Amino acid sequence: MALKKKVASMVVDSKAQELSQLSSELHRNPELGSEEFKAHELLTNFLEKEGFTVERSYTGIETAFRATFGSGRPNVCVICEYDALPEIGHACGHNLIAEAGIAAGLGLKAILEPSDASKGTVIVMGTPAEETTGGKLNLIENGAFNDIDIAMMVHPFPLNIVQPDFICSATRIVTYTGKAAHAAAFPWEGVNALDAAVMAYTSISALRQQMKPTWKVHGIITNGGAKPNIIPEKAAMEYYIRAPTKTELVTLVEKVTSCFESAALATGCQVEINTPCADFLNIVHNPTLSDLYLKNLTELGEKSTEMISDSPVKASTDMGNVSHVVPSIHPIYAIGSGEMNHTREFTAVTNTPEAHTATLTAAKAMAHTCIDVLTTSGLLEKIKHEKQTTNVS
Ligand SMILES: [Zn+2]
Ligand SMILES: [Zn+2]
Repeated sequence: MALKKKVASMVVDSKAQELSQLSSELHRNPELGSEEFKAHELLTNFLEKEGFTVERSYTGIETAFRATFGSGRPNVCVICEYDALPEIGHACGHNLIAEAGIAAGLGLKAILEPSDASKGTVIVMGTPAEETTGGKLNLIENGAFNDIDIAMMVHPFPLNIVQPDFICSATRIVTYTGKAAHAAAFPWEGVNALDAAVMAYTSISALRQQMKPTWKVHGIITNGGAKPNIIPEKAAMEYYIRAPTKTELVTLVEKVTSCFESAALATGCQVEINTPCADFLNIVHNPTLSDLYLKNLTELGEKSTEMISDSPVKASTDMGNVSHVVPSIHPIYAIGSGEMNHTREFTAVTNTPEAHTATLTAAKAMAHTCIDVLTTSGLLEKIKHEKQTTNVS
């Protein structure tokens, strides 16, 4: 292994205890998307103490940050997430994503110290609200990625895959308005908004038979009325609609919208359909960065990682949008347990010694991949000219 990579890995190992404490602190204090105030403070203070130039509330987004070290191009960006889920805490392991991003940043900083001849800049970007409105979408909009040459992050999962499928996703908030009435005495005076929500829900369930196996729709009823003896005048639902490509997503959103609207017509309710955030796009993997990551990971002793998988497991991420504007990778890695994301069981395994070890190995592979880009002449140009690989049908 080249000397610079050895140095980066040694620095990561020397900081292992502090990094795992940082991640455990996030795990103990789960915060929802856009409310990651403690995490923002903890991570920016740590990066500042380590010698990074830190911009808090980056581009005006309260819990976003940018920590920079080095000078000149290329600008290599490692990404942190740190939001948790309601009720079940860090069930997606974003505490580990923060740990990995910062660990990779420290490794890269070590090889970019002023005494070294290396030229280039490492940026650790803190991106909030991945689980909800997608902080990276706002960051892209605000120009945060305009000067970034490559971007990468890793995500804990039950599987080890360099180019996992992450598909497009649209969110819709649906509100039905009817008319309240005494449910026993004068029900004929009412217009039942809950009936509209239930009809839309069952229509979408019927639609599933005609959906492609790669399409996904899932929703919950967030307001179903106040009391049984009042005909519900309001009902509300939240839906996620997903498909592998933007074109297919448009088709599926149209079909689901028809279900929302027809339920309003059938019950005599008014319907309002809102889009709370822009759509998440499918991920496109940079082929050269993916190859380098796998090679570096294998060199670090991790042998069980596949480049792609035919697993039916598909989710969505706002990193998809980043991958459409900057050459990117988003590998997933196992944390020593078969538990699956968004469960209480996964929350329990995102703060174990095995999880921290696996996280630091993935962080080193990111750092080594960035070192390849920083030190190999012509490589960045090749990466930038490459057509991104999209691993979807
Ligand atoms: Zn998640
Ligand atoms: Zn996640």
